[in-house]
Amino acid sequence: MSTAVSLQNVHKVYSNVPVVNDLSLTIQPGEIFGLLGPNGAGKSTTIRMLTTLTQATQGDIVVAGYDVNRQQLQVRRQIGVVLQQISVDGDLSVWENMEFHGRMHHIPNPQRQHEIGRWLEFVELADRRNDKVKTLSGGMKRRLQIARALLHNPKILFLDEPTVGLDPQTRRRLWEIIRGLNQQQGMTMLLTTHYMEEAEYLCDRIGVMDRGRLIEMGTLIELRRKHGEGIVMKKKGDRWDYTFFSTLKEANDYLDQQSDKTGMMTRSSNLEDIFVELTGRNLD
Ligand code: ADP
Repeated sequence: MSTAVSLQNVHKVYSNVPVVNDLSLTIQPGEIFGLLGPNGAGKSTTIRMLTTLTQATQGDIVVAGYDVNRQQLQVRRQIGVVLQQISVDGDLSVWENMEFHGRMHHIPNPQRQHEIGRWLEFVELADRRNDKVKTLSGGMKRRLQIARALLHNPKILFLDEPTVGLDPQTRRRLWEIIRGLNQQQGMTMLLTTHYMEEAEYLCDRIGVMDRGRLIEMGTLIELRRKHGEGIVMKKKGDRWDYTFFSTLKEANDYLDQQSDKTGMMTRSSNLEDIFVELTGRNLD
């Protein structure tokens, strides 16, 4: 597998409205790629196209070496998908959910039982295997979704807002699981998120989408270098104005030169600053 994921000039149009507009990007094997963007930017639609859930209107998509339109079945064998909606059945037990999914993927026994045990251990749910899913916390349900997505040993995992709505401790635990999968199993991942610190912590590269277009892409280091590593913040009434500087030293030098420094401070820039700079007008 030379490239894990490749999109070339991909468009998706719903009712004459371009929702994904000329999107091209590639993800290398073993990479964690983060897709950011305001609501409605086209992130979920992109994941749906990559995971064969909807077809692109135009353009080429190759996942794990297979064309998503012409080789859907082969693509599905190579990918695991964790979507936003909790899609596990609450009336079934943890084990039954896994068993059902394993049968859907035609994983034969005893391998199926072995894999169910292995992945429930991995996400630390082995001791809850006989509990009904509706008795689990939100974080446990999300871990079950991940275990289920991994059951058929996919090469690439797609995660649409994997930690949305979870408390900070649970979120961090999921980060460790996601990172562990990447580091121990070499798994390639594409995730969407609204949490900037999540993208900073997990992602090797970040793409920012806005109104269907990819408007920025790079590593955090590259993005900070491009937009500025230092920030001067100035309080204006009840809000802050931000000005980027190439380096923190330049930001500090600028502040030093000001005769009136009231309400001003400097700091290093972060992904959130860059995101707001790029997409701020769209925040809701
Ligand atoms: P994001 O995940 O970045 O929030 P989405 O991909 O969910 O964005 O949505 C992008 C745009 O496409 C939105 O304006 C949304 O209303 C529209 N959209 C998504 N799915 C459909 C659909 N099945 N039919 C019509 N419009 C859709």
